[in-house]
Amino acid sequence: MWRVTGATIKQMSAEQFIKITETVTRALAIERVSVWYYDAQQRSLLCGDLFEATPERHSGGSELSAAHYPAYFSAMETEEVILAADAMADLRTCEFTDSYLRPHNIFSMLDVPIHAGGKLAGVLCCEHVGELRKFCNDEINTVSLLANLVGAAIEHKERQEKRKRIEELLRNELAIWNILFEQSIDGIVVLEQDGSVYNINNRFVEMLGCTREEARQMKVWDWYVDFKENEIVPKLLAVDESGDRFETVQRRKDGTLIDVEISVNSTEYNGKKLIFSIIKDITERKRIQIELLESEARYRNILETVQDIIFTLDQDGAISSLNPSFERITGWSPEEWLGKNFLPIVYEGDRELILGIFQKMLSGVPITAFDLRILTRSGAYMSFEANAVANKNDDSVTIVGVLRDITDRKRAEEKIHHLAITDGLTGIANRREFTRLLEGELDRVRRYGAPLSLLMYDLDHFKRVNDTFGHDTGDYVLQTVVQVVNENLRKVDIHGRWGGEEFMVLLPQTDIGSASDVAQKLRQAIELHTFGKAGQVTASFGLTQIQAEDDVVSLTKRVDEALYLAKQRGRNRVEILQS
Ligand code: GH3
Ligand code: MG
Ligand code: MG
Repeated sequence: MWRVTGATIKQMSAEQFIKITETVTRALAIERVSVWYYDAQQRSLLCGDLFEATPERHSGGSELSAAHYPAYFSAMETEEVILAADAMADLRTCEFTDSYLRPHNIFSMLDVPIHAGGKLAGVLCCEHVGELRKFCNDEINTVSLLANLVGAAIEHKERQEKRKRIEELLRNELAIWNILFEQSIDGIVVLEQDGSVYNINNRFVEMLGCTREEARQMKVWDWYVDFKENEIVPKLLAVDESGDRFETVQRRKDGTLIDVEISVNSTEYNGKKLIFSIIKDITERKRIQIELLESEARYRNILETVQDIIFTLDQDGAISSLNPSFERITGWSPEEWLGKNFLPIVYEGDRELILGIFQKMLSGVPITAFDLRILTRSGAYMSFEANAVANKNDDSVTIVGVLRDITDRKRAEEKIHHLAITDGLTGIANRREFTRLLEGELDRVRRYGAPLSLLMYDLDHFKRVNDTFGHDTGDYVLQTVVQVVNENLRKVDIHGRWGGEEFMVLLPQTDIGSASDVAQKLRQAIELHTFGKAGQVTASFGLTQIQAEDDVVSLTKRVDEALYLAKQRGRNRVEILQS
């Protein structure tokens, strides 16, 4: 039962009110008839129409409040008819005497409440003017009947409006559902339980690649490649309201196959089972999935087979991945470094440089190849050539890098360097390297003014050694002389082969006095040594102290002159030449 209030009567047209009041006026031959309806709160009655027979006048709009007329309002709730033959005396209507009855000269009243939908909706009032009047049963029945008719009319109207509202609601709902159904980016098909099409949306027609008419004629097994007729029907019948979801392959009219994901659900409708399927085309998703898997496999393959170390760092410098070469080359297991900062694995001498490169990369500066040394598990270090790029993601930076083991190359380079700067026979600095070192020391002397002495020695009558014992013995003597001299030098002293059997010794922080002592000590050490079958060998020494204005040429010339003096003055001696 729906709610009917006076407000509903209000919706009745003025014409309908007029018809009622005029009809009752005529039927009862009475002066005043009015129809009243309750306001929404049922706290007052409002006049829909008042018809006065003699002036044939309609009016309306008056209001009666329950607060002012409590007896009347309560009688309305409890009585089917308020028959007040003497209205001014009747307890139910006497409240109106001064304000209403007397001004309008009303003596008798017959009021019948109007009910609609089981509730009070209003009241039909008949008022006799000028004298007291008795209403007979027929009259009472007539007014009651009319009040009932008004009530029924209201109910009817209410019902009609309710139906209209529901119909409109349904129309709107249907419109929304149609939009959802037809505009869906997924295919939707509603199937009957025998596999035929009940309804189908545009998208699904598109997915089948045929016309809507052709689609309507199809059965579900016409498009699902994986199912035969006898398999799919039981599967459809088994679908319940909780639904099911599976992937399968669907055939288009032109024979091409597409991958689909299907969500199915069923419901009872008009006594039969309908199966709702939502079909997503996942061909593209599958293709991307497969490509991803393939590229991942390729990438993994590269990572695992490549000889180089491949690593990634996050922006805090933590190592986030390492390939198997890392363990093979360095001996560390990846677990010992994953998640940890990379810096401690870098050889101490390279840390500052590498940290600088890392920070540059984070700030977006492109870096080309650079060398670094990495500590291995055994405690040694190995040399690597590194290449790295910074990958900017949404809110972070990842550094991906490759380390190529260049330890062998570095060793070869070092060997070549060593060969380039040392004398092959004796292992000390060659003339070019000695000259370079001498220039360096000269620089220091000029800058800091520390004493520096240069000494040159030449074996005496060495030709004879060669001539007597052969060239190999001569070589042996040369090597041994160098050893003997080395044993008597400090670490900071620089010993070089100037050429043939001539050698130089640079004595930093040594003035000419101390240098002279050193020269004598060396001369004696050689003299006292026995050089195998060559026996005793001596050498002559020239010595000079470096002056501020000296250069390599002036210095070597002077020390050579000093040596020449030593030779002239009898060999196996030291001569000093001061500028
Ligand atoms: P002096 O006392 O005047 O220096 O006489 P010397 O015989 O030592 O002088 P000289 O310069 O005439 O001879 C140097 C000899 O040193 C000549 C050369 O055959 C020899 N010699 C130079 N380099 C080598 C070398 O690498 N191995 C050998 N075995 N002999 C060398
Ligand atoms: Mg000589
Ligand atoms: Mg010589």
